[in-house]
Amino acid sequence: MNTSENNLDLFPTASIPKFQESETLYSWCGRFHQLSCNTSERNTSRQLFKHPSAGFRPDFPTPVGHIHSKSKGHFESLEEFITNRTMFGFYRPFLPLTRANALATAIESGTYQHVNQQLGLPASLPELSNLLKACATCLEEDFTNFSFSWWRMRNQWPSTLVCIQHQQPLIYVRSQFRHDTLKDWILPCRIQSSEFWQDFSVSETMIYRMSEITNWGHAIGSESNIFLDTTKLRYCYLLKAKERGFVAMDGSVKLINFRNAFLEWIGNCVQLPTLNFAKQIQDSNAGFIGQLIRQYPGIRHPLKHILMIAFLFSEPHDFFELYEYVSSIYNLEGDRQLRKKLKNIQDTLVNLVSNENRSVNSAAAELGVSVTQAIKLLKKTQTPYQKRPRILGSEKEMDLSKALFAGEDRARICQKLNIRKSFIKDYLAANPILKSEWEKKHKIKLIQRYREKFLNILKANPGMPVKKLKGIRGNGVQWLQRHDKKWLENNLPNLKNQH
Ligand SMILES: [Zn+2]
Repeated sequence: MNTSENNLDLFPTASIPKFQESETLYSWCGRFHQLSCNTSERNTSRQLFKHPSAGFRPDFPTPVGHIHSKSKGHFESLEEFITNRTMFGFYRPFLPLTRANALATAIESGTYQHVNQQLGLPASLPELSNLLKACATCLEEDFTNFSFSWWRMRNQWPSTLVCIQHQQPLIYVRSQFRHDTLKDWILPCRIQSSEFWQDFSVSETMIYRMSEITNWGHAIGSESNIFLDTTKLRYCYLLKAKERGFVAMDGSVKLINFRNAFLEWIGNCVQLPTLNFAKQIQDSNAGFIGQLIRQYPGIRHPLKHILMIAFLFSEPHDFFELYEYVSSIYNLEGDRQLRKKLKNIQDTLVNLVSNENRSVNSAAAELGVSVTQAIKLLKKTQTPYQKRPRILGSEKEMDLSKALFAGEDRARICQKLNIRKSFIKDYLAANPILKSEWEKKHKIKLIQRYREKFLNILKANPGMPVKKLKGIRGNGVQWLQRHDKKWLENNLPNLKNQH
């Protein structure tokens, strides 16, 4: 094969390798080089990319436009080619449309530096998209069926930790074999080459979590029309965190609870090299959690988003539904309305207490928060409040006063008017005339009640000796002896003798 850079006919021979199922461009280049009989990889890279080493980047061998235009229709459309054969498909859902288009253009015609500029992820987990990963079972099947294997695109996604088909953890090319020096292409070896492959011992629980994260990456990556916006995602996380109880009533995040729940969820998976960065959530700035939930400008690595989403949401439709909801509010009313949604317990509480004259107790009960929490919040927002129900000056006070004046039973008043016992006590103490009136009338009522009860007992037990009568529940003899002695003596003439 002619390896001249200037050769316009890039693929003069019939032996252009076909792309294997979901094969990466990097992988294809490696196989192309083997078939080309070129002695130098650098020459092959020059031939394909007009650059001696640009082809050796596993994530973005660039620019791809040259190869694609020379493929004489052997490849899929340029758009599909970029999405399916480079790491573009992994990053795209987390980029705004204009940015995604600019990235695609950089991949088509720019350098690796241009691509990185458009990704906008300086120093954010750069190593993750250059790990070379494979499934051991797929590998063996490939070697059996084809005598060779290749790198599959989705296995290279940083969020892919297990093989979707075989549900087993991926194995990694050991770092000393990797492209670090960008000298050549590396193709998968047979699984028996244990010095080539590195695997990690993982428990069943870990595999479960790893599958979950992998599936989320695939679910989002498969949505071709989605361009997730950092700000909207932030509100999705916050609203969901609120639902999970990680947001205080003033809209602030309970970071410690959030962090602990995340650590418990991720478990030992945090030891995996790909997810190691998550350990930083224990730092004072809360690592990637802090980055995603605070209002920092800029784009974050998709793996961070995928982890956050996998932790907070249980089903993809949950997430997409909330995202759509947040988007519609954001597009219509802006981010102020969303901030309100986060704080709405606080706002509703303040409104109930200061505008609707509700007591803290009843407002807190309605919002399903504790009185202590509510008071803390009202103090913070400097809202004047009354802890007890507002009675003074209300219609309730008139009812209370009437009931007390009539000497009604206090327990019954509490029940009827929904007032605390202690409030009545304080109220009477503050109104001595009413108090003595209540005591007088209440006693009369009480005496009547005791007399009635006693007479009923007598009637039901004619001729029963007093000693036995005293054993009947609710007889009230002792009380009547203390408060209504004369009446008792008149109605029970032999009391004196028997006593
Ligand atoms: Zn597999």
